[in-house]
Amino acid sequence: MKVLLVEDEKRISDFVVKGLKEQGFAVDLANDGNDGYYLATTQSYDAIILDIMLPGRDGLSILKSLRAKGNNVPVIVTTARGELDERLEGLNLGADDYLTKPFFIDELVARLQALHRRSTGSQLSMRQVEDLVLNLSMHEVKRGDREIELTSREFNLLEYLMRSPGRVYTRTQILEHVWGYDFDPNTNIVDVCLQRLRKKVEEEGEGKLIETVRGVGYRIKKV
Ligand code: CA
Repeated sequence: MKVLLVEDEKRISDFVVKGLKEQGFAVDLANDGNDGYYLATTQSYDAIILDIMLPGRDGLSILKSLRAKGNNVPVIVTTARGELDERLEGLNLGADDYLTKPFFIDELVARLQALHRRSTGSQLSMRQVEDLVLNLSMHEVKRGDREIELTSREFNLLEYLMRSPGRVYTRTQILEHVWGYDFDPNTNIVDVCLQRLRKKVEEEGEGKLIETVRGVGYRIKKV
């Protein structure tokens, strides 16, 4: 997927560009509204991630012009916390989705994939390891017939591990993918969340699926 990111805050754009590239996206970056509009109208993208408050030209005006020209590229509007009115205005102007900043890269990827599936009409996305099934589009996790209630953080963590069973993910990788740019790398938040996830995923009598690789990180058992 080729996406355009229109974002003026360097800290966020660095993080998003890096995160999306790591997950196989091709990303063009525009740092202001004029560049963003120029790229959006001269290049072809699978999706645009559009900030609202931008130097040059604001995101909503870009969106409005694109739609007025009949350009139906999927657009995810990003807003700062609390800008609810602008968010609603964005949807009225033809945004396909919105995300409140700060957001997690995995959340953005899930939204991009959902938009892509919608526009290409492809299959629902599932991940499975033994009897553990994670349904990305329904945001649902089951172990056999048992439904597992997860917080969105736990869901993203499990989804990340399940992408590649057998592969070891370091704490830093997990922190970066699931928590994002705002967290101290020395925190033990990954281990704490993993313990909670483990309790929910591995009830008594069920096989162990999440493995700790001492001194390195974690992985989902390869079947
Ligand atoms: Ca901004």
